[in-house]
Amino acid sequence: MHAPSLAPSLEPCLDPRILASGLSGLHLIDGAMVPAAGGKCFAVHNPATMEVIGEAAEGDSADVEHAVAAAKAAQPGWAAMRARDRGKLVAACGQKLLAHVEELARLTALETGKAIRTESRVEAGVLADVFTYYGGLGGELKGETIPFHPDQIVYTTREPIGVVGAIIPWNAPLLLMALKIAPALVAGNAVIVKSAEEAPFGVLRVAQIMAEVLPKGVFSLLSGDGPGCGGPLAGHPGIGKLTFTGSVETGRIIAHAAAEKLVPCTLELGGKSPMIVMDDCDLELAIAGAVGGMRFTRQGQSCTAASRIFVQRNVLRGFVDALRAKVDAMVMGDPLDEATDIGTIISPRQKATVERYIAIGEGIDGAVAHRCSALPSDPAFASGLFVRPVIFEGLDNDCQVAREEIFGPVTMVIPFDDYEEAIAMANDSDYGLAATIWTRDLGRALDATQRLQAGFVQVNQNLVVQPTLSYGGVKTSGVGKEADLRAMLDHFTHGKTVLMRVR
Ligand code: ADP
Repeated sequence: MHAPSLAPSLEPCLDPRILASGLSGLHLIDGAMVPAAGGKCFAVHNPATMEVIGEAAEGDSADVEHAVAAAKAAQPGWAAMRARDRGKLVAACGQKLLAHVEELARLTALETGKAIRTESRVEAGVLADVFTYYGGLGGELKGETIPFHPDQIVYTTREPIGVVGAIIPWNAPLLLMALKIAPALVAGNAVIVKSAEEAPFGVLRVAQIMAEVLPKGVFSLLSGDGPGCGGPLAGHPGIGKLTFTGSVETGRIIAHAAAEKLVPCTLELGGKSPMIVMDDCDLELAIAGAVGGMRFTRQGQSCTAASRIFVQRNVLRGFVDALRAKVDAMVMGDPLDEATDIGTIISPRQKATVERYIAIGEGIDGAVAHRCSALPSDPAFASGLFVRPVIFEGLDNDCQVAREEIFGPVTMVIPFDDYEEAIAMANDSDYGLAATIWTRDLGRALDATQRLQAGFVQVNQNLVVQPTLSYGGVKTSGVGKEADLRAMLDHFTHGKTVLMRVR
């Protein structure tokens, strides 16, 4: 058992091992860094070496009770503040975080295996942007006036829900936490976050920094496993709203918990996102877009990963060869090394899942798995969770590898002859998160944007989630949206209708 340490200093610390060790054994509850009620911890690993980098506090229902009690005590005062003043405090958290971008980037690279230059620094860098964006939206918590009757003033207001429970994953922990807590707080709620087992420290550092700015109790962060800590949080009667990002299976559990209590819930789940490449497109742009869209730099561990690439047959060969060459040229290695493009898979369990899917694909008649890039040669990383990216040819859209989300560096290129066939295959999926089409024909592009069954559709580009733009899926990819003003209004407030008879 890890003896709870004093919280680390708030001075930026560029040694992520010192930071991970200092953050060990602690939650952030009621404005203070505190040990788990049960005194337990669990080991957190650097997936590039499998060394233990620290031990996170193992939360349970007693920690949840503590955080909910603190949130309930703090929320009415928070909600009573002027909305724009709440927004200013949330924006101030963003400003404070700017001084910590580099340390958060290093800590994220260490605990998630995401390469510092291509992934972790980018993620740490957008955090402040999300806080700044939502921090400016306090004045937008507006209702409507309704011309109901000349003797009455009738209007609607937006009111905070109360205490929000947020459960986040490990693949982009800083960003995904920010997209939940910033709008929930600005809307006047208190928020309790349960971090992912694999990535508890980066978000805890963010929480520690935010606690310097926010009133105590309005934001708490717990670490712990899903059933032991996430379960009690989701089921707690004091939680009035659930917001979750993660797998479809766990999403169903969260939705059940919400249904039991009859509280609203937002779910951001998986994807199997199609990318359609027409023969009239700028092929070079599309190839670069496939590398970015497939998130090879994140080992494909993204729910929007372009994991099904449909390419018009007459440009197929050139597309596949160029894509292979580009991914081959990417450097896999130490996530903390500036030269590295591709880091590691998050956990041994996830690595085994990815390898199982690769084996299933390779076992299919006619399939060819192009393995790209190269494993790091440095023996220091011999135990690291590295997997060479795979581009499959010869698979069809019906096989298991095409239908199920892998969450790893595995994509497939599937040829088509005409556009209708491509649209039909793209939509033939249980998922509907993101989709892209690459073409110079604007009429066709417009048609595709109308017909692709996905919540986030792009033409000739493959950007990730952006503050100000609504983001979320259809079908099993989720329920509800994030990242824009509507998400704050629709998902973190209740509407109230007021009828005032004045004569
Ligand atoms: P993954 O399999 O990639 O870890 P999950 O959906 O299981 O994806 O995890 C996403 C988040 O959901 C994590 O914070 C995890 O701890 C949490 N979680 C997992 N199981 C449960 C559960 N039964 N109840 C509440 N939270 C859970």
